[in-house]
Formats: sequence, structure tokens, C-alpha cells
Amino acid sequence: MPSSVLKQGRLPVVPYPAGLHLQAVHTSDVAAAYRLAASRPGRCGDGSPRSRLRAEPLGAPARWGRRQAPKSSPEMTLWPDSGASRTGEGGSMPVWICEACANHFPPTPAPPATCPICSDERQWVPPSGQGWTTSEALLAAGHHCQVRTVEPGLTGVGVDPPVGIGQRALLVQTEEGNLLWDPPGLVDRSAVEAVAALGRLAFVTASHPHFYGATADWHDATGARVVVPEEDAGWLTRSDVPATSWGGAWEILPGVTLVQCGGHFPGSAVVHWAAGAQGAGALLTGDTIMVTPGRDRLTFVWSAPNHLPLAEGAVRRIREAVSPYRFDRVYGGWWDSVIETGAQQLLDASVERYCQLLRGEAAR
Ligand SMILES: [Zn+2]
Ligand SMILES: [Zn+2]
Repeated sequence: MPSSVLKQGRLPVVPYPAGLHLQAVHTSDVAAAYRLAASRPGRCGDGSPRSRLRAEPLGAPARWGRRQAPKSSPEMTLWPDSGASRTGEGGSMPVWICEACANHFPPTPAPPATCPICSDERQWVPPSGQGWTTSEALLAAGHHCQVRTVEPGLTGVGVDPPVGIGQRALLVQTEEGNLLWDPPGLVDRSAVEAVAALGRLAFVTASHPHFYGATADWHDATGARVVVPEEDAGWLTRSDVPATSWGGAWEILPGVTLVQCGGHFPGSAVVHWAAGAQGAGALLTGDTIMVTPGRDRLTFVWSAPNHLPLAEGAVRRIREAVSPYRFDRVYGGWWDSVIETGAQQLLDASVERYCQLLRGEAAR
């Protein structure tokens, strides 16, 4: 059962490292790192698909990337202090932001030729062509962060006017640190200050590659560890930051579990927050399980903008992945994408209706 698996695999977060640490990988050598990890004995967990955390005893060599490992006691720092801090280690080289998806790319003198996220079938490139911007340009144009309490223990962080796909992040608070989920593509000082006031930011991660956004900026500002599903690690666009891979299910903080569902992307995930919805449980789903505009059903996509559906098997695997968890509420990827109550039953009904339509068995 996931509960026993998660106990085994849960990462001690304060101080870091303590007891066990997860293997960190740099995306440029991610394939080699995975081969190395697979060949090592002593991996944590029971070996089931739900337990593939890459935990190793202390003393094993950590595989951090070119940057240094996270501080043992990360302290929140204000960010950005100046334009220079947003230009990466290359000084004058900007961090490029794709205008269509708002994912960030490593600092380079000129922007990349294309955005691999938007060139993929699940996203889109504007007919006018690939466009790029920077944090400085977005701030100068009046974009700024909005921080709102969503419910006790859960805070939203969005951008107004929205950038890229327009998702708002969710910050889940626990006594052992906080998790930031689905960060949008811009961070400003007010957001960093607001998040700092709510406690130590331990982790930053996302439901899927469309929503990696300003993940690296949060890491730079706070020391939070970047977490990415093993199967989607190659999509992490800021490949110059260290990242920790995971798979299956991982209770990353007490009562806060990352659950890999697949579907939209192989690593597409949700967060189960046991204390959410006043203790009834909540799922944070991004695009993994989508809330419809009428907020009266849930749906599933291979591509949202291109209106491409998921196969029945993938939809049923999503349902199966979340079946061990109790929840009454679903938070999708945007401010208004919320099923306030009855979400577990609604998910069951939505799965059945979706599969009826795929099979051509739907009553007219
Ligand atoms: Zn893009
Ligand atoms: Zn998506």
C-alpha cells in the first residue's frame, strides 16, 4: 500500500541532508545518472512502481550539477535584488522566457531557435512565429505577481496580467516546510516576500512540463529544491539548475504526496493534500485532471489547445493512480478551476462518461 511505501521513502527535509538523500541529477547527463542509479543496490522502497525514490545512504557521492548543492539550512533571500540577479551566471546574458508557454531557458547571449515545449504536439507555436521575452521586459510591461489565500494552509501565486499559459501556483504549507506547485513564468519581489512570510520553501515542482515556469527563479531566490518526475526530466527547460527526480508516489512532506498519474505527459502528476478541504482531502491537479469551465465535471487531455483526447487506458490509469487517496476537492491549474466538493464521485462519473464517448457508446 502506498502508506507503507511512502514512510520508507519520505525524505527528511530539515536539516539537509540527514539520514538519506535523494539523488540529484543534472538534466544534461540525466540519462547517464539514471543508468548509474539503476545499477546501484540499496535503493529505497519496495521496488514496486509506486516506490522508485532514488534514496541512497549518506556517504554515497551526490551527483549535483554544475551548481552547488542546496544549503544545509536554506534561508529565504529577497529576489530579485537587481536586474543582474535575473540574468544568470553569465552576467549580461538573460534568462529567456518563451512568450507562448512562459517556460524559462538558461542564460545565453541569444534566445534559442525554438521552444521545445511549444514545438511539441501538446502545445502550439503562434502563427507569427516563436517569441521570446525576459523577466525585465515582463515587469516593465506591468506584469506582477498576485498572492491570495485560497484556504487555510493553501496560498495561490499568480501573475496579472497572466503570462504564457496563465497558471497560478499553489503553495502548500506544512510544519516541516512548504511546497510550491505549478509556478507561473514570472517571480517578483512581492511574491518572494509573501512566500517567505509563510515559512520555509522546501520544494518547488510542477504537474507537468507546460507549468515549469519560473521554477529555477524560486530555487535561486529561496534555496528550494527543484523536483521533477524521472520520466519528464528531459523536459526541464532550465537545465542549468540541480533537480531531484522521483517516480510513482512520494510523500514529500507530511500529508503532502506527489502522485504520478501519466496521461498528458508520462510524468504528469497531482498532489494529494490530506489536510485540504478542511480535512476532507484535496487534489492539486494542473492539467493532469482538468476542471471544465462549468466546474461540473473533470476531463483529461493529450493536448488542451489542440483538442486531442487521451486514450481510455491512460484515463483509467489516472483514476487508478489517485484511487488510494481520499479527497473531496480538486484544484486545477487556474484561479477558477476548482471543484469545491464531491470531487471524488465526480471523477468517477467523468471517467466513465469520457470513456463512453471514446468508444462511441455515448447516448445522444
Ligand atoms: Zn514555449
Ligand atoms: Zn499542459
